[in-house]
Amino acid sequence: MARIGVFIDTLGGSLPSSFQERIASFVQGLPQVVFCHPEVNLTSSQGLSRMARCLEQGGADRLLIIGGSPKLYESSFQKWAHPLPINPYLLTVVNVREQVLWITKDEAEALEKAKGIITKAVRQALASQPIESQSLPLKPEVLVLGGGITGITVAQTLARSGVHVFLLEKGPQLGGRALELQTFYNRPEEVRKWVGEKISELGRTPSITLFTQAELKHLEGHVGRFKAKIRNHRGKEDLLQVSALVVATGYQTEWEKGGIFSHRRIITLSEMERLLSEAKGPSLRYEGKDVGTVTYVLDTANEDIKVDSINAIKQSLQLQASLQCQVTILCKDVKVAADGMERLYRKAREKGVLFFKYEEAPKLSIVNGQIQVDVIDTALIQKKDQWPVSILSDLLIISEAFVPASETESLSRLLRIHLGSRGFLMEDNPQFLRVRSNRRGIFVAGGCRFPQEVSESLTEARAVAEEVLALLSRGEYACDLAVAEVDPKKCAICYTCPRLCPHSAITIEHYAEKNVYALPGREEKWPAAKVDPAACYGCGICVAECPAKAISLRHLTDEQIYAQMNLPER
Ligand SMILES: Cc1cc2nc3c(=O)[nH]c(=O)nc-3n(C[C@H](O)[C@H](O)[C@H](O)COP(=O)(O)OP(=O)(O)OC[C@H]3O[C@@H](n4cnc5c(N)ncnc54)[C@H](O)[C@@H]3O)c2cc1C
Ligand code: SF4
Ligand code: SF4
Repeated sequence: MARIGVFIDTLGGSLPSSFQERIASFVQGLPQVVFCHPEVNLTSSQGLSRMARCLEQGGADRLLIIGGSPKLYESSFQKWAHPLPINPYLLTVVNVREQVLWITKDEAEALEKAKGIITKAVRQALASQPIESQSLPLKPEVLVLGGGITGITVAQTLARSGVHVFLLEKGPQLGGRALELQTFYNRPEEVRKWVGEKISELGRTPSITLFTQAELKHLEGHVGRFKAKIRNHRGKEDLLQVSALVVATGYQTEWEKGGIFSHRRIITLSEMERLLSEAKGPSLRYEGKDVGTVTYVLDTANEDIKVDSINAIKQSLQLQASLQCQVTILCKDVKVAADGMERLYRKAREKGVLFFKYEEAPKLSIVNGQIQVDVIDTALIQKKDQWPVSILSDLLIISEAFVPASETESLSRLLRIHLGSRGFLMEDNPQFLRVRSNRRGIFVAGGCRFPQEVSESLTEARAVAEEVLALLSRGEYACDLAVAEVDPKKCAICYTCPRLCPHSAITIEHYAEKNVYALPGREEKWPAAKVDPAACYGCGICVAECPAKAISLRHLTDEQIYAQMNLPER
């Protein structure tokens, strides 16, 4: 029979003494309680030491704390580096401060409420079972997919910290989209030179193994033991065993020529970038003629992506200041939410770049070989103040649509990571976990997550590297086995749980081969779904959805819930 040791934490005297005494006499009357001690401050180091001694001497095998919020005790156990004198899953906390006293004026009513909660907690404590933890060795080996600026930076940062990196690039060379840029908007270096230096440094790093013109063909396993099969363009296959995976496969741009957009004087931002890289001055030449006027029409393809604004303002400065062009930028909104962009925007205005805002798409026509743009300028809010503007230009620059890289969808299926509504790879939590995917051990960064400028990609690359290093730093992954588990005898292999698990922690990959369980004392074997404890977050979705009731959470079984509610088991 389980024996419960109870501590009433008076929280430095903030529990009224009469309330505390009545609770103590109620608890002492419960049959399974072997002792009940008041403690002035259980979250202090001395309080915790006394608790450990009492538990040992009092012969209790379950611990019930009556006091404040469970978080309070969790953090003080960590703060004082105090090993809990009992398996953490045998500890139950009743928060009488926030859940009773702070919300109930009448003391008699508060007492009744507290008694009810304590009774349930005692039942819960009696039904609780110890849960062991598991430690998984982690080799410092990581696979990085994508050799753009994000992948290169992740690989270098990890390699500098002693991690062996396998860098996989599907194209013949490293560098990605950054190689198409001529200059940064916020750094003095020339982009190709800067990327080139990074690539040659990477080539000199022995702990980076580079695979170019190669693709990931198959991935199995979970954090700490991913097995990745890769194949190069000659058909040679390699099997890599890595602890974690970083996806940095970037994005691509699309532009459908057609109608007036086929006119040779309408070009894209990328084409303009190439033109500028070849421009020798003093003027810009296009098809053998000087270009005097350039108009950008932004936000036609991507309304909320700032790369266009950044690129256009950067280019306009070069055109206006060094190549004697008059530049006009038409956009729905000037997006300057990037480091140093506000300054650059002001500089562009000072140099004479004209900005107009529009809501209705500008009308384009050809007049004497030039492009005419007609638009209503909506910079002024009052409709009566908004004027039509007509601009004639030698070159019209439009933005391409930023779309996910061609294989993003198949990659998400292969890796079992989520896609966002626009088809880019999705982070687990946009506020807190921006570079973690829904799967433990798989990280996403750079343009594959969302179109972004180089400095943002670099920041994400460093964030990913830190996350990976934090994961690998102890050489092992320690996880509580407070996870879902399948009763193989009940599982009907209906495939509901592997489809629903948000963290892809359940597999039924090789029916009747791998996921076969031998039942103790039984001859026959059962195929069944299998939960990987290191990948499971214990969210309980599979438990709720399994039609055969074959899954349970080890730390919150049906029996424990029924016991808490004092219901007969079903
Ligand atoms: C038109 C345009 C203009 C831009 N202008 C600017 C600017 O002015 N200033 C600025 O700061 N930024 C600008 N950017 C953004 C900048 O180019 C990106 O931020 C940066 O290149 C993103 O780097 P990345 O490594 O995440 O992706 P990418 O550069 O796209 O690299 C991804 C790499 O992954 C590889 N890959 C793809 N799929 C796979 C796969 N399945 N397996 C293996 N490898 C794969 C690709 O071949 C590529 O080499 C611009 C981008 C574009 C497209
Ligand atoms: S939902 Fe239940 S029955 Fe279906 S595969 Fe998963 S464990 Fe088996
Ligand atoms: S508890 Fe949640 S994370 Fe764990 S296997 Fe079930 S659905 Fe997946």
